[in-house]
Amino acid sequence: MTRTSGTAVLRARGVVKSYGPTPALRGIDLDLAERELLAVTGPSGSGKSTLLHCLAGILRPDAGEITYADRALGGCSEAERSRLRRTEFGVLFQFGQLVPELTAAENAALPLLLSGSSRKEARTAALDWLGRLGVADVADVRPAQMSGGQQQLCAAARALVTGPRVLFADEPTGALDQLAGEKLLGHLVRAARDQGTSVVLVTHAPGVAAYADRELALYDGATDATGLGAGQRIGAPR
Ligand code: ADP
Ligand code: MG
Repeated sequence: MTRTSGTAVLRARGVVKSYGPTPALRGIDLDLAERELLAVTGPSGSGKSTLLHCLAGILRPDAGEITYADRALGGCSEAERSRLRRTEFGVLFQFGQLVPELTAAENAALPLLLSGSSRKEARTAALDWLGRLGVADVADVRPAQMSGGQQQLCAAARALVTGPRVLFADEPTGALDQLAGEKLLGHLVRAARDQGTSVVLVTHAPGVAAYADRELALYDGATDATGLGAGQRIGAPR
């Protein structure tokens, strides 16, 4: 599929979300361009995970609107949103959350099996992704026998195996040492770029500015504490 560069694939306008009396997001606007890698940064508790979950259709905002490919997520049923998450989005969390009883290849194949691919097709695609992410050697190994970095790369394979249009990653290097973290980011960014996937990456990794097209800094659920407005461009989308 040809994807036009420069068009917004995901758009948020005035997104507000509270947990009871605790405001987590106080009116967030953002545009994620096709193929763009947006880094979301900010101190603990600033609303990064809440924003990511809203953007991925996991949480419903209290107010505001999120549109994916010109479709308002707020107007989608729970079933439609869960289908979007299965087919269009990939999600990667801090601790990977692999299924402990399954091997790396079985974990990575899971999303394809759930959306009806044959076992053979799913395994082939899973092995391909494990190879691209540099962890083909642990294909038949269970998570307990892998390093933290290998587990995260396997979780990344699982998040990318369906060829999602947007990858959401919430502090994917948070549990890794710096070297393993850098390796994960490098692989993730290359893999996403190779297939034209846009990425929303929540991270504290120091080197992230080198990878990201743009950084969105959150302070207390808002993007404007610096007075600079939402999203300072730190490089043109590549
Ligand atoms: P970050 O990911 O930047 O650390 P979060 O989005 O997790 O921030 O949290 C933003 C705010 O919302 C914080 O004040 C946090 O305590 C609060 N919060 C997050 N999740 C919940 C929840 N499930 N219930 C109540 N408060 C929450
Ligand atoms: Mg968080």
